[in-house]
Amino acid sequence: MKERKYDLYGDVKCRMCLEKNEDDDHIIYCQQLRDKWLTVANNTRYECEQILKDLLSQENYLQLNQEDIQQLMSWNRNFFVYITGLNQELPIPFIHLILRNFFPKEKYRKLKSIVKSEKAILTITTLFIEIFINEFYRIIWQIRCNLVTEWERTRGIKKKNPKKKILAHQRIAYERTLTQQIEGDTYDFKGRKILKHNEQWSISLEKTRQLYI
Ligand SMILES: [Zn+2]
Repeated sequence: MKERKYDLYGDVKCRMCLEKNEDDDHIIYCQQLRDKWLTVANNTRYECEQILKDLLSQENYLQLNQEDIQQLMSWNRNFFVYITGLNQELPIPFIHLILRNFFPKEKYRKLKSIVKSEKAILTITTLFIEIFINEFYRIIWQIRCNLVTEWERTRGIKKKNPKKKILAHQRIAYERTLTQQIEGDTYDFKGRKILKHNEQWSISLEKTRQLYI
């Protein structure tokens, strides 16, 4: 299977920068996508802010005092601000974690120090990841897929089963149930360990490539 794939594609460069081979993590580091990643981060913060305001307007849901509210809003506002010790090569911090459906440990701890309700924490972290991933599909993934499709068309590559083509967001095993997926391990709301998420993103990219074999 692999040989056939290489026959067809040879040394495939990223369709966005045309410089680097498109391995699994390249979509994170691609120089042509840096601005787009910033847009993903800004949109996520903006949409999350609206949701936090909405949650705050629901009486007794978050139960925060004024100071906590300020802290919560600044937690969101500064979510993608770099602090020392983080991998500065990433266009925005935590991208590799959130893309794999993990919530960054330190951000989780901070949130927990502000919001006391476990359920509210879970709701916020789940929504945050969902918003981020939706923005990623909209701003980066769809554009990448369109470029790949266009490139294949010019190369005369036809998909074997075009009817079977499934959109990326449908094939990624994206956990939508409320789970606490903190960097490292995954637990459901009752504290049971669910599964170790790794290579989810690699798998999805791999599957997408397999469509073209
Ligand atoms: Zn690239």
